[in-house]
Amino acid sequence: MPQFARAMERLGTETAFEVLARAKALEAKGRDIVHLEIGEPDFDTPANIVEAGKRALDEGFTHYGPSAGLPEFRQTIASYISKDRGISVGPENVVVTPGGKPIMFYGMLALLDPGDEVLYPNPGFPIYESVIQYMGAKAVPLVLRQENEFRLDLDEVRDKLNKNTKLIILNTPQNPTGGILPAADIEAIAGMLREYPDTWILSDEIYSKLLYESDHASITTHPGMLERTIILDGFSKTYAMTGWRLGYGIMPEALALQVARLETNCNSCPTSFVQRAGMEALTGPQDDAAAMREEFRRRRDFLVDGLNKIEGVECLLPGGAFYVFPRITGLGRPAAEVAKGLLEEGGVAALSGTAFGAHGEGHLRFSYANSLENLDKALGRVSDFAATIRG
Ligand code: PLP
Repeated sequence: MPQFARAMERLGTETAFEVLARAKALEAKGRDIVHLEIGEPDFDTPANIVEAGKRALDEGFTHYGPSAGLPEFRQTIASYISKDRGISVGPENVVVTPGGKPIMFYGMLALLDPGDEVLYPNPGFPIYESVIQYMGAKAVPLVLRQENEFRLDLDEVRDKLNKNTKLIILNTPQNPTGGILPAADIEAIAGMLREYPDTWILSDEIYSKLLYESDHASITTHPGMLERTIILDGFSKTYAMTGWRLGYGIMPEALALQVARLETNCNSCPTSFVQRAGMEALTGPQDDAAAMREEFRRRRDFLVDGLNKIEGVECLLPGGAFYVFPRITGLGRPAAEVAKGLLEEGGVAALSGTAFGAHGEGHLRFSYANSLENLDKALGRVSDFAATIRG
């Protein structure tokens, strides 16, 4: 066995990609699988954005650009975020990255020392815990529970915040629960953070345009917060651009310079022509994005209704993103075992709640980025499989 760096033992992963690979292997053997495992819109990127990307290739946007992003794109993003969130930021606060995900990695590389404490949602996006641990920092879970509609428990936040808390990670709307942090809770957390002026905030707002009933609330609107927050946002989810790899962070200029330096060391710069397509996404017509959201809402309602008809399964109606996170404790088996059986025997690829942290036990995550027809097929299969394990 080659000797890898010890830190590699602490690095986690995203199980969705492993389940996708296993599902594809089963399909190669002739099995029919409904894919509800991966968090990516099943729609094509809107045509105006694709055209802008093609045009940029023709216009020669095929060279290196500045590490933090093309100046005109940083300006476009700054104007968009200022208007959308009701805050005031400039291009110097924007760092463009290949997808939103590198903002987690670069942000934590720039901020954390070994031993620093980081509060993060659990169940939550698995890369948070992975990177915290990779950095040798202390991962302190904030538990999201179905009884609490997957909101943060404010008493728990208050108890766990202390002078060693270097960072708190907020995510709304959430992956994997689809839950949202209500504006009042965010305001309360901002109030608590005022007592800890050295604590940074990573506010993952990648699903902010996929909200079905409420408006998005960003902690940056509260006094004193913008100065120590990294907003993570991007194009993958809102504009069905996962494979383009385009995202960004909004942060204080001093931190932006550090994050851009990490980019110089790693990916040099985000892809030039892709950034031009991103400009079109933010400034062009928004009808396709709105139509996708409406379709997601229809699918959410259909899936939640169907899941709640299955004995042993209880599913909340999530307020955002494109995930449901039903409780399946009524089936009497650990979530990982249910997810495995559902794929291997039932023909539905889903994720165990434990793929999102230990506190995801007792749940499955289904992504409803799939057609109503396939969701219907999946519901029939989940129902049959649930009947077999209930005995
Ligand atoms: N944040 C959350 C909560 C996500 O679910 C994802 C993707 O699944 C990302 C960030 C990163 O998305 P991307 O790197 O494609 O922009």
